[in-house]
Amino acid sequence: MSRIVRTRFAPSPTGYPHVGSIRTALFAWLFARRNGGKFILRIEDTDVARTVEGAVESIIAGLKWLGIDWDEGPEVGGSYGPYVQSQRLKLYHEAAVRLIEQDNAYYCYCSLQRLEKMREEQTQRKVPPGYDRHCRNLSQQERELKKAEGIVPVVRFKMPLNGKTRFQDIIRGNVVFENNLMDDFVLMKSDGYPTYHLANIVDDHAMDISHVIRAEEWLSSTPKHVLLYAAMRFEPPQFAHLPLILGPDRSKLSKRHGAVSVMEYRDQGYLPETMLNFLALLGWSLDDKTELLSREQLIEDFSLERVSKTAAVFNIEKLNWMNGVYIRQLSIEEFTRRVTPFLEWDLPAAVKRPLSSEYAAKVMPLIQERAKLLDDAAQLSRYFFVDSLDYDVNLLISKGMTKESTIRALEVSIERLEKVEGFEAVSLEALLRPLAEELQLKTGQLFGALRTAVSGETATPPLFQMMAVLGKMRCLDRISKAIDKLQLLPTQP
Ligand code: GLU
Repeated sequence: MSRIVRTRFAPSPTGYPHVGSIRTALFAWLFARRNGGKFILRIEDTDVARTVEGAVESIIAGLKWLGIDWDEGPEVGGSYGPYVQSQRLKLYHEAAVRLIEQDNAYYCYCSLQRLEKMREEQTQRKVPPGYDRHCRNLSQQERELKKAEGIVPVVRFKMPLNGKTRFQDIIRGNVVFENNLMDDFVLMKSDGYPTYHLANIVDDHAMDISHVIRAEEWLSSTPKHVLLYAAMRFEPPQFAHLPLILGPDRSKLSKRHGAVSVMEYRDQGYLPETMLNFLALLGWSLDDKTELLSREQLIEDFSLERVSKTAAVFNIEKLNWMNGVYIRQLSIEEFTRRVTPFLEWDLPAAVKRPLSSEYAAKVMPLIQERAKLLDDAAQLSRYFFVDSLDYDVNLLISKGMTKESTIRALEVSIERLEKVEGFEAVSLEALLRPLAEELQLKTGQLFGALRTAVSGETATPPLFQMMAVLGKMRCLDRISKAIDKLQLLPTQP
C-alpha cells in the first residue's frame, strides 16, 4: 500500500449506536490498526431535522465501551478538523459554488408542491421516481426572475445523461451503474446545509481518507460520489462496502429482532470483549472456524479480503455462548469487579447498599460458571444477600420423605452444625455425609432438604461451599425457619 491508511467512521447522530453501524466502525478501525494507519471519527450532522440530541454522546460512549479509539475527531482533535460537519459549512459552500461555476451543478427553484406533484405523476405513470430536471436548463433570465421572487434554491448535480459509472470495490469487485438511472440529486439544501453526498466527498478528500469502509446500503450512493470526485478533480479513495446484517429470519436486523443498540447489550451484561469478537465475525472470518479472537488477534489478522460478500446473520445464541466463555475467562477479582454494578442495581431494595465487597468476592466464584450475562448474577446469587427467603415449603420435602422426617433431619442437622468447629466446606462435608447414614437417609435426601432450607432453591452451587459462604449464623437461622415453615404444614394422612 503506497498511501498511509486513513479510515473513518462517519456516523450521523440520528439515534443510538446501532450494532450495524458499530460493526462498520469496528472494521474501519481494525483495518487502520492492522495497517499502522489512522482512524478518524467524523460526525455527519447535516440532516438537522433528523439529528437527535444526545446521539453523539451515546455513539462516543458505545465506541469507548468497546475500546474502539480514534486518532482524530471529537474530544481528541487533529490537524484535519473540525470533525463535525456542521462546523465545516464553508467548505461545502465553496465546493457547491465551484461545481456550479464548472457547470457540474445548477440551482433548482422547484417548490416542494411541484416536486410532490411530479412524484405522484411518476407513481401513476409507473416510471422510476426522480427529479425531472425542470431547472437544469433555465436561462440566466429565468434564474434572475426566480431569485427576484425570493425563492431560495437548492443546488443539484448535473448527472451525465448517458454512459456508465464504474468503480472497484475491495469487497464487491467491479461495480457498474447506468448514469441514466440516477437523477440530478441535491448537493445543497435550501436550509444552507449540504446533503450527505456533497459533505461526505468534500470531507473524505479534505481529511485525506484512503479507504472508505461502510455499509452496503451506501453502495448505490457511491457512483454519485465517484462522479463528484471526478467533477471536483479529487482522487477518490478506495471503497469497501460491508455486507448487510440480518436477523435470524433473514430480514434486515432491526428492533423487531431484539436489542439493536450496543448500549443495550452493555446494560444486559455482555462484556465488551465478547461484543468486539462477535461483531468482528459479522461479515469477516479468519478461517471459517475460529470463533474466539481477542482484540489483539483481531488487529493482527483483520483483512478486507476476508470480508464476505454475503449478508451476515446475527445469531443471539452464539453471542450468549461467547459471553459465557468470556465470563469464565475472567479472573474472579475481575468478574467480581464487573458484576458489582449489576448486583447493586438488580438485587432487591431491601439488601443493604453498598454491598460488602468482601462478601461479594466470596459469593461470586460460586456463580461465575453459570452466568451467561453479568446481569444474571443477581438472579443466581440473590439468596446469598437477602434476609428472608420466600419459597414453596413443599420443596423442602425430598422424595421418599415426609414432613416429620424432614423436620427431624433438619433438627439434628442444627444440633450438629451448632457444634461444628470452623464452618468450612470440608468440615461440613465430613459432618453431613455420615449424618445422612445415621438418619438412614440417602445423602440426596438430606442434602436436598438442607439446600432448599439455606437457599430456597433446588439448583445451587455445591451445597457445602454454599453453606460455608453463607456462614454459620445464616445457615442455622434459615434451617430453623424451614422447620417453622414445615410445622405449619398440615400433616399428611
Ligand atoms: N453518515 C453516514 C452514515 O450515517 C456515513 C456513511 C459513510 O460512511 O459514508 O452511515
